[in-house]
Amino acid sequence: MPFDFKVSETRMANITIVGGGLAGLTAAISCAEKGARVTVHEAHSTLGGRARSTPPPYVTNDGTHVFYRNGEPWRWLVERGLAGSYVRLTWGEVMRMRFRRRGRLRSSLPAGYLRMTLLGRRRVPPDDRSFRDWALDHFSEQAVNDSVGFLGPVLYDADPARLSASFVFERLLRVGTPRFPLPTGYVLGGWGAVIDRMASRARELGVTIATNSRVTELPEDGPVIVATSLDAARALLKDQTLQWESGVSALLDVVLTPSQRDGNATFDMDEGGFVGHYSEHDPSLVPEGETLWQGQMPMRPGESKAAALTRLGTLYDLAAPDWRDRIRWQRDYVSRGRTGALDLPGFTWRDRPAIDRGDGVFLVGDSVAAPGILAEASINSGRTAANLAVELVPAVRV
Ligand SMILES: Cc1cc2nc3c(=O)[nH]c(=O)nc-3n(C[C@H](O)[C@H](O)[C@H](O)COP(=O)(O)OP(=O)(O)OC[C@H]3O[C@@H](n4cnc5c(N)ncnc54)[C@H](O)[C@@H]3O)c2cc1C
Repeated sequence: MPFDFKVSETRMANITIVGGGLAGLTAAISCAEKGARVTVHEAHSTLGGRARSTPPPYVTNDGTHVFYRNGEPWRWLVERGLAGSYVRLTWGEVMRMRFRRRGRLRSSLPAGYLRMTLLGRRRVPPDDRSFRDWALDHFSEQAVNDSVGFLGPVLYDADPARLSASFVFERLLRVGTPRFPLPTGYVLGGWGAVIDRMASRARELGVTIATNSRVTELPEDGPVIVATSLDAARALLKDQTLQWESGVSALLDVVLTPSQRDGNATFDMDEGGFVGHYSEHDPSLVPEGETLWQGQMPMRPGESKAAALTRLGTLYDLAAPDWRDRIRWQRDYVSRGRTGALDLPGFTWRDRPAIDRGDGVFLVGDSVAAPGILAEASINSGRTAANLAVELVPAVRV
């Protein structure tokens, strides 16, 4: 071991957490709840990482948009009062969802898709075949295309059918099975509000949080939990093996003056895009008389941002006709490798970079060996790493 974990009356080992996003704050709270002394270093001036929201007047989520209420990470947040108030879509809102399919806007899910998610759910897909390869043995080609198109907002990938069958089907059944209420929810005030609550909870538990504090060398005076993106962890841990598949998408957020013709969430079963009418769920995100939309389009290999935004624009045309004439504010960006892990055939979440790196160093985030969809993996891995790190400082355990 490179450092002395033995705790004396005068010197207690400290758990250092590098990164103050969802994973780092989860780890900090979990360690502190078990009685450990914790310091979080965040390179940025504000906490949250990809779960940050922009400041008012237009509160848009940079990364995390929806959460999945049928997952353990959400329960963990709720138990601690960290989730805050949230909205579930009403029956009326669900009925106003639309689906672009074969270029046209439709109000119902196709029969083949329903057969796959409702009647096909008992099938057990393998890890070692692609979703396309496995699903075509059981379902129609159109149903396969529709299902991966529907999963665009979860996978952020232009060709999800190439991914492991078990990885894709698990997400389809959790997120895409028609049921009411839907498992998706939206936190009021955006994810930045959740981050603020997590930071307050951590501070209440005695966690020291240092912002504008970029770590360039790992401290050697106690366990370290590296809670950065995988790219940043690769540099920090000097380990080129820290790589995993992730998605690439173009995103376009717009604030519009409202129109009677505006729709609701619009799924793009043709191309995997998605447009969400976020202020319909949470009017506090924008000033009165304005509406907030967030849209995304998975980028094809070699495709330019402009081309992907053009394709996304055609989806906006269907969801919010004449939207270009009503724009009050907009931003567009490309998310490359920032939307969590995608598992290729032959791999499961267990094969991703291990949480326990040895010598008291732990790695957490949405691309490490932890289960869950998107940010769920960050929360799950943060909790696992906290349990392991606290084991190394037994004298401060409660
Ligand atoms: C466009 C988009 C849409 C998404 N939609 C959803 C969604 O709808 N639902 C969902 O569940 N998830 C979604 N996600 C994923 C979700 O945002 C992420 O999984 C989650 O926020 C990752 O949290 P994290 O703490 O693991 O990493 P990060 O948020 O990346 O946090 C890492 C932190 O480490 C800091 N850091 C890096 N290097 C250092 C250093 N050397 N020293 C100190 N600090 C450092 C960074 O500044 C950052 O704050 C989306 C992501 C994107 C990009």
